[in-house]
Amino acid sequence: MFSFFKNRRRRKLRALPFPAAWDEILEVTMPLFAKLPAEDKLTMSELIQVFLEEKHFEGCGGLKMTDEIRVTIAAQACLLLLHLPKADFYPKLKSILVYPASYVADSFSMSESGHIHESESHRLGESWSTGSVVLSWNAVEQGALNTEDGQNVVFHEFAHQLDQANPASDGAPYLAPDLGIRARRSKYVSWARVMREEFEDLQFQEKHGKKTLLDTYGATNPAEFFAVATETFFERPDELSEEHPELYLELKSYFRQDPVTW
Ligand SMILES: [Zn+2]
Repeated sequence: MFSFFKNRRRRKLRALPFPAAWDEILEVTMPLFAKLPAEDKLTMSELIQVFLEEKHFEGCGGLKMTDEIRVTIAAQACLLLLHLPKADFYPKLKSILVYPASYVADSFSMSESGHIHESESHRLGESWSTGSVVLSWNAVEQGALNTEDGQNVVFHEFAHQLDQANPASDGAPYLAPDLGIRARRSKYVSWARVMREEFEDLQFQEKHGKKTLLDTYGATNPAEFFAVATETFFERPDELSEEHPELYLELKSYFRQDPVTW
């Protein structure tokens, strides 16, 4: 019953006219939006209405929340959802916390001798499976403006959200939930093989100081690999499809989008 009301509410939100002011914001802040096919832009504008209504945005560290910030973040988060089957608007996510620039977070690590070390690190973004994404507006702006450097903190953190929808959060989001069990199984088999090979390859390249298309932060673990690969897929699709054709195909099949054609 709940989903009946939710779907009805979402249909109403999707039918709302997209404010001209939001179009103007995206023209300035997100050049990628203009490149999308017309029907994708239309779907995006519908998704953005739902996203903005359902997610709570909060300015932190003195940041005053504005439509520019909300719409720019929502649009990039919704681009990942555009053709995902049964995508439920990042169902675990409730709040998006935005700092003006990089922010300091405490992190803990354990040494081999078992001592806990506390350290402060500067961060541009974080994604939590407990319902929040944290972003630096400065990094969001740069990431959205430069569409070809393969660095986009919103794509990165929301790829983590997709991954975290799956309890294992190990770099394999829910694949093809609209297909039958056999077809789904074969998608997972193929995904696991390609992702493992590409991840190990990136680890090897990083270890040997080689120049890589994918940011070597992706060599940290399979979850970071998926987040970094998502950034590269949307921002450097031509190079990714040429240099890592299998990885490109897996991501194309998962997102059901083909950024090479934009
Ligand atoms: Zn990450």
